[in-house]
Amino acid sequence: MYSPTVIEETVVRLLREAECRLPPDVVRSLEKAMDEEKDEIALSQLRTILANVKAATNGMLPMCQDTGLPVFFVRGRYDIKIEGAIKKGVSRATEEVPLRPNAVDPLSRHNSGDNLGAGMPPVHFEPSSEEHLDIAVLPKGAGSENWSALRMLTPAEGMSGIRKFVIECVVNAGSRPCPPTIVGIGIGGTADMACVLAKKALLRPLGSFNSDPFLADMEGDLYHDLNKLGLGPMGLGGRTTVLGVMAEKANCHTASLPVAVSLNCWAARKAFARIYADGRVRFSQVMFE
Ligand code: SF4
Repeated sequence: MYSPTVIEETVVRLLREAECRLPPDVVRSLEKAMDEEKDEIALSQLRTILANVKAATNGMLPMCQDTGLPVFFVRGRYDIKIEGAIKKGVSRATEEVPLRPNAVDPLSRHNSGDNLGAGMPPVHFEPSSEEHLDIAVLPKGAGSENWSALRMLTPAEGMSGIRKFVIECVVNAGSRPCPPTIVGIGIGGTADMACVLAKKALLRPLGSFNSDPFLADMEGDLYHDLNKLGLGPMGLGGRTTVLGVMAEKANCHTASLPVAVSLNCWAARKAFARIYADGRVRFSQVMFE
């Protein structure tokens, strides 16, 4: 099976890459927002964001002081050692990148100091019979994570209820998730599944559409409607409120329609690695097929 040392090393590198290098799809979307913007304040915000991204990459330093909580999505053959190796990688990355130690006990607020502790980091495992192991990391800052929302709609509310809820979420969040944001939407499953789907949607490349034509239409329509809100970069007004809208779905109970929203800030950090059985590792800033 996969070597725990290789997994640990991979996680350290994934976190360094994600924190210090904004993926090209996100950079391109920010540049496009600049090209389309007319408002001087919005332009200055976008200019500052892009200068910050460049400085982070040049110095290989985190692009934001909130390095987030690293959320992992792993696909491959299950091995009990995978989770332990990921934990070791997170602890080392906290020291070596460095990452801000953000993980605390929810009640005592005691900080573990290494981004670990009960339930940390979240690892969503998807079993697969393929020989390789895919690891994706999505460091999630509190500014955007705090505006996550779940609503159990009635099936009768359907597509229009989903759109209304998503717009409400973006309006309520306002400037606080550091727009322009990326909107992840999880539809269906159980309540917990919808939340995971919303987060998983954030891994997709910006500009991609769901293969389900209904969902693809919804993604496109919401992208246009949300960008008409005028919130703009950092909520100071402007044409670009969201860089993308991406939705994922799962079957649900006939009497339910769970919908979850996960917002990601302009610092939409993500990184991907594929570990082969012979120990080779391929890194990417774009999700593997
Ligand atoms: S929401 Fe994003 S950009 Fe804003 S402070 Fe948090 S991690 Fe940084």
